[in-house]
Amino acid sequence: MMAERLQGKTVLATAAGQGIGKSSALAFCREGAQVLATDINEQALEQLQREEPRIEVAVLDVCDAEAVESLAKQQSSLDVLFNCVGYVHHGTILDCEPDAWQRSVDINITSMYRITRAFLPGMLASGGGSIVNMSSVASSVTGVPNRFAYGATKAAVIGLTKSVAADFVGQGIRVNAICPGTVHSPSLDERIKAQGNYEEVLKSFIARQPMGRIGTPEEIAALAVYLASDESAYTTGAIHLIDGGWCI
Ligand code: NAD
Repeated sequence: MMAERLQGKTVLATAAGQGIGKSSALAFCREGAQVLATDINEQALEQLQREEPRIEVAVLDVCDAEAVESLAKQQSSLDVLFNCVGYVHHGTILDCEPDAWQRSVDINITSMYRITRAFLPGMLASGGGSIVNMSSVASSVTGVPNRFAYGATKAAVIGLTKSVAADFVGQGIRVNAICPGTVHSPSLDERIKAQGNYEEVLKSFIARQPMGRIGTPEEIAALAVYLASDESAYTTGAIHLIDGGWCI
């Protein structure tokens, strides 16, 4: 039997109630990690725990500064921080009212600033760790129509990733960004439904990937496991594309 790749490691994941975050929490657990799965959606976390009782869960709104601080006090030592949360606003800059812009900034980038600041001191004190930040190909990697606020804030995730990686590379901290193409998830399904003709819109989402399909959350989870584990010990500050060939 292969050794479990995350044996002995403690992982905290945000947005672990569904989609990529949930699949990653399950994959971290299968690889032997002690997982604390967080999300704003309590019912989704209860469902996750029914599926995998070894996973610990906690309701966490990543925009709630006090809740983040208090969780960091309870859970001082982490080996892996998976910042998975993200929110998609549909539209151009002209469609993006100030509240939608602020929501995108708060959820997609300020949350990562806040959570990283809260948990990094504990990681440094215990000699290091791996931070994995969820970006997207819709970022500084490529411009995508109708993804103005999303692309801008996911580009900021890459900047944050590189900055923290540069500052702490000598202290055992690695920070990497994952940039997926289109991935099957409950929110993707909602976005497709919201645009009207389901089959037509689905086709247009599939067409973005030259592989002719949409990725699965499990495929992204496999990359998250690699970046969390010591197998990726020689990579930091890097952008890891996983996009069905979108950005060839
Ligand atoms: P999803 O959008 O279906 O689920 C997101 C989860 O985040 C939900 O469980 C929701 O309850 C939780 N959440 C929302 N607001 C929150 C908050 N304030 N605090 C805590 N949790 C909150 O999941 P997904 O589509 O798999 O996306 C996960 C990540 O991957 C996001 O960062 C997304 O931008 C990124 N991503 C997704 C795709 C895709 O095609 N699905 C592509 C590229 C990048």
